[in-house]
Amino acid sequence: MEILFYIIIALMLTSVGSVLLSGSLLLLNDKWLSRISDYLLYLAGGTLLGSSLLGLIPEAAEALDLHTVVLWVLAGILLFFILEKIILWRICHNADCERQNHAAAPMIIIGDAFHNAIDGVVIAASFLTSFELGVFVTFSVILHEIPQEMGDFGILLKSGYSRKKALFYNLLSGSSSLVAGISAYFILDIIQGFIPYALALASASFLYVSLADLIPEMHKETKPKESIIQVLLILLGVAIIFMSLHQHEH
Ligand SMILES: [Zn+2]
Repeated sequence: MEILFYIIIALMLTSVGSVLLSGSLLLLNDKWLSRISDYLLYLAGGTLLGSSLLGLIPEAAEALDLHTVVLWVLAGILLFFILEKIILWRICHNADCERQNHAAAPMIIIGDAFHNAIDGVVIAASFLTSFELGVFVTFSVILHEIPQEMGDFGILLKSGYSRKKALFYNLLSGSSSLVAGISAYFILDIIQGFIPYALALASASFLYVSLADLIPEMHKETKPKESIIQVLLILLGVAIIFMSLHQHEH
């Protein structure tokens, strides 16, 4: 029961918390805030890689043999690719519908609801494994959700949504993580044997978000100074996860 309490707090922080924080940051909109959003995104690139490769995969490999774990990670990456493709197909009827496209507001909302649901499952599986893992995973989710939500607000406002409506839809898509996370807690609590598999899929989700979403975003920026900041913040993100996980090993 105590674990469920931590999971609910973590889910509230990552869904409602990050939507409200990013929404209020956006009200003060200026250059400085778009800087913060960029830096959070770079940092999230590192914490997601770190949580996946240093936290979730080794944790899954304590219960399953490594060959099985990497097979599930591989399957997860392919699954996320296919699911993202299906979402793109179902919602985009025109040829040039991309995430950045301003006509893509419904896709942003549905795609995020889906993504947030997976984040919710990842959080539940991590807290069921250990409190520390749960905390690092929650931290990684918040770091990538704030710039993500800020970007989403920007797109929704540009496509003609009022601030209230944009906030409402972002909260709605954020709430999917609560539903999915709490359901996952009850399912995984009954079928404990599935937790390591859930961790392997979770690590695939984090790898996918970092390598397929965040890093391509970073490559749009080619100025040397910004590129160095990117490298340093990715390394800092990895280092935060590395050092905190190591401290708890002893
Ligand atoms: Zn996320």
